[in-house]
Amino acid sequence: MFLTKNLRFNPEIKKNKTDLQTEGVRIASLGGFGSVTQNLFVYEYQKQILIIDCGVGFVEKKNQKTELIVPDFDYLLQNKDRIKGLVVTHGHEDHIAGLPFLLPKLDNNLPLYAPRLAAALIEEKLEEVGLNKKIKVIDSESRLEIGPFSLSFVYVTHSIPDTFHVIVKTPVGTIYHGSDFKFDWTPVMSRQSEVAKMALIGNQGVDLLLSDSLRSERAGYTLSEQMVEESFEREIKDCRGRFFVTTISSNVSRWQQAINVAAQHQRKVVLVGRSVEKVVEVAQKMGYL
Ligand SMILES: [Zn+2]
Repeated sequence: MFLTKNLRFNPEIKKNKTDLQTEGVRIASLGGFGSVTQNLFVYEYQKQILIIDCGVGFVEKKNQKTELIVPDFDYLLQNKDRIKGLVVTHGHEDHIAGLPFLLPKLDNNLPLYAPRLAAALIEEKLEEVGLNKKIKVIDSESRLEIGPFSLSFVYVTHSIPDTFHVIVKTPVGTIYHGSDFKFDWTPVMSRQSEVAKMALIGNQGVDLLLSDSLRSERAGYTLSEQMVEESFEREIKDCRGRFFVTTISSNVSRWQQAINVAAQHQRKVVLVGRSVEKVVEVAQKMGYL
């Protein structure tokens, strides 16, 4: 899709390709559009590229191990000299797990920005492929200039702490890059979404909104994550044997809730799976658990 100064956003835009390359912002998804996983967005203005997120997807096959799908990086590798920076919105696998596949093929001086918890999780992943990369930590107050893109951030609630939306200001307009979130007014281990900041940005004018919230097509509200702990409590009370909890490994707040309930009922906790062990170890080290 393209965003241009005079025409504003129009997915049907019919214009000479070279005009768009010089005038417009080109936004391409190498994954994450129309599917839940594998998020990788490429913003391009006057041949300068900004990447937001770099995740993997998963395919479940009957009676077989789940397979990873890595986005097709060909376009980025063919244009690697034009990439000015990479920004990560949060630490979920479908936003960070593609980095160990992409970064070793790019200049190691390419700036990489991520929220605090995501940065720690990425460092672990990069260590596994022998890459020692400096990650710059971002927060709500961060302001970045990456090539022609000016970035600022909005804190949002999601199933992992430290999740941000990105405001991408470009010479032709402002784009609100709203990666995964849900409005949870009683979050388990993070603060509430910065809605006042969102309203302010809205008043200042947004030319294009990209918003990704699972099940947003359904009317009504999703229950707060607080409710999950009440459900655990209700179920564990009458459970005589082992009590199993499954969730995606990076759902840090849900692990905390399971541990809280286990402790209240004098249960021992055993983590099963390499990914969950890693996430819990990192989250504990960083003071989130
Ligand atoms: Zn997510």
